[in-house]
Amino acid sequence: MAEKRTELSDLGEFGIIERIKNSTKNKNKSTVEGIGDDAAIIDAKDKQLLVSTDMLLEGVHFDLSYMPLAHLGYKAVAVNVSDIAAMNGIPTQITVNIGLSNRFSLEAVDTLYQGILKACEDFKVDLVGGDTSSSASGLVLSITALGQAGKKSVVRRSGAKKGDIICVTGDLGAAYLGLQVLEREKQVFLSNPEMQPQLDKYEYIVQRQLKPVARMDIIHELAELKLIPSSMIDVSDGLASELMHLAKYSKVGIQIYEEKLPIDKQTYDTGYELGIDSTTAALNGGEDYELLFTINQDDYEKLKNHADIHFIGYVKEFSEGCKMVTKQENLIDIKAQGWNHYKKD
Ligand code: ADP
Ligand code: MG
Repeated sequence: MAEKRTELSDLGEFGIIERIKNSTKNKNKSTVEGIGDDAAIIDAKDKQLLVSTDMLLEGVHFDLSYMPLAHLGYKAVAVNVSDIAAMNGIPTQITVNIGLSNRFSLEAVDTLYQGILKACEDFKVDLVGGDTSSSASGLVLSITALGQAGKKSVVRRSGAKKGDIICVTGDLGAAYLGLQVLEREKQVFLSNPEMQPQLDKYEYIVQRQLKPVARMDIIHELAELKLIPSSMIDVSDGLASELMHLAKYSKVGIQIYEEKLPIDKQTYDTGYELGIDSTTAALNGGEDYELLFTINQDDYEKLKNHADIHFIGYVKEFSEGCKMVTKQENLIDIKAQGWNHYKKD
């Protein structure tokens, strides 16, 4: 009899993680939160240590034909810092693992580290270690970020309560449309190398794709306002997917309003040009690295005039599911597409 074989695409990334999570049992009292949130939480007496790790693979997560190495280094740090921010934490150190094929020169490694070190400066973290290996297929970059949070101020995905207000920072969908523009210019260049890319008009969205910023500014402002969100996650896979994570872990329902979604004009215009609905880009595009969080209604006063925090909906009862009120006032189900690297089309 043939051995049983299950395709990874049957589970998808989240299914695989769930399976790994279910096969672990933590032995140490200091492991406060293991697999499942933006970062693990480890008890360190008077505070909580946070640990988060992310891996970027050439050909899967980035394409060096339009992603400059310095930007890649910067982005790899920023996405990890963003996971620490999503726990309401302050990042402190990173370690960097790289796998290099012989295609890369010493100069290329220097450029990659220029980006990594610039991000370390911007986000005030120290590079304290890592590992270096050769790679059979292109560039592999894996970063682990360590951070800290107060015992009472650490924020999980699981604390949202019915009636809470759903907030999101910045704007959404830009990084995805920036990627579409870069992909298009690459194709144009491949078919005619004489053509220079026309990126001026897309500057903002391209920069959102190439050089995302972790929203540590928001974390510091929340601390100054003495406001602790009830739940939080960063938007790496797209708003829809992140809302569903908050709903699942908090055991609540969600209702958002399409007209409240923060979408930059350049995102909207480029979406129109490329035939991509900007709401779809905001919901499913991903890589925005903004913060999605919920607050108690009593805290609304503290944030209501904030220029860069947007109130997009409410936390509902679990039984109400995850819904969006469209601009035409229809109530539709939110479906998480996220990025499933294993999924067949
Ligand atoms: P994020 O998008 O915030 O980086 P992920 O969806 O990548 O989060 O991961 C969700 C959770 O699953 C995190 O706690 C992460 O540490 C954990 N996780 C992901 N992959 C693995 C793995 N291969 N083994 C153990 N834990 C994993
Ligand atoms: Mg995250």
